[in-house]
Amino acid sequence: MSQNDVFISWPVALIHGFLRRCPRCGKGRLFKGYLTPQDKCSICELSFEDLKADDGPAYITMGLVCLFIVPFFFLMEALYEPPLEIALVLSLPLTLAIILGLLPLIKGAFMAALWKSGGKSE
Ligand SMILES: [Zn+2]
Repeated sequence: MSQNDVFISWPVALIHGFLRRCPRCGKGRLFKGYLTPQDKCSICELSFEDLKADDGPAYITMGLVCLFIVPFFFLMEALYEPPLEIALVLSLPLTLAIILGLLPLIKGAFMAALWKSGGKSE
């Protein structure tokens, strides 16, 4: 971590990561695909190779999704009492869409947290 990195606050770094941008400059792209990190930032050349998120973002995403989808499922059952087939047809695609939408954002913020805390998860 260089001297300039100290001036990037935690909330700013997390927001940059959440927006899938380099945690340091906020301009370079963090991923080259859906979840594959770039080797380094194309703007400030910060290396992303040490920011190995592993399964952390998946656990956080699943926890957040369960926090919202389980009450939604119970509320839907309490209000409308839909047949199981209808409930599954509504809930499963919604759950999958939320997971796939949130995962890159959470992974970006997770990598920003790794960078801010010193780099490596291992
Ligand atoms: Zn950068």
